[in-house]
Amino acid sequence: MKNVKIHDKEFELFITYEKIRSIVEEMSEKMNNDFKDKNPLFLCILNGSFMFAAEIFKRISLLDAEISFIKLASYSGTHTTGSVKQLIGLNEDLTGRTVIVLEDIVDSGITIVNTIEQIKAKNPADIKIATLLLKPDALQVKVQLDYIGLEIPNDFIVGYGLDYDGRGRNLIDIYKVTEKK
Ligand code: 5GP
Ligand code: MG
Repeated sequence: MKNVKIHDKEFELFITYEKIRSIVEEMSEKMNNDFKDKNPLFLCILNGSFMFAAEIFKRISLLDAEISFIKLASYSGTHTTGSVKQLIGLNEDLTGRTVIVLEDIVDSGITIVNTIEQIKAKNPADIKIATLLLKPDALQVKVQLDYIGLEIPNDFIVGYGLDYDGRGRNLIDIYKVTEKK
């Protein structure tokens, strides 16, 4: 599919699943190497990251690896609201653990900074951040990202777990909004 319509907006094919898969393969291979002697806890930020997190985690060959989930929401429609709501919290004991946050996309950076603060309060040994996508031009805060799949322009995207008001998460590829001028 080259074009899709979701709610009131048109989207065009932007990043193919083939490209995503090669990013995921490269990133997970690096992680297998980087966390060899740890028992890392992967932390998926729901909802948007579920597909990315599943695809990373199934390629992690370390038998000591674990995964858990937190649920945050900052987006409404096609724009960030600037405030982050925690919908499902973090119950794990993180003391002394290496935590790898799996995020679908870093936009303003507010979600990820907020998440890092919550994790830090639980005294992990180390926190690493992995994001499939980054919009460098949208960043409003300073944040260290340890694994970045792909940098993209400041356009609204859907697919591969990312939604537009609940829809579009099941698209295999990633689409970007088509601006009609
Ligand atoms: P931030 O707090 O960095 O501004 O936004 C991060 C969250 O907003 C991401 O985890 C993602 O769920 C959502 N988000 C940011 N940009 C987009 C986008 O272009 N499309 C969709 N569907 N969600 C986005
Ligand atoms: Mg997200």
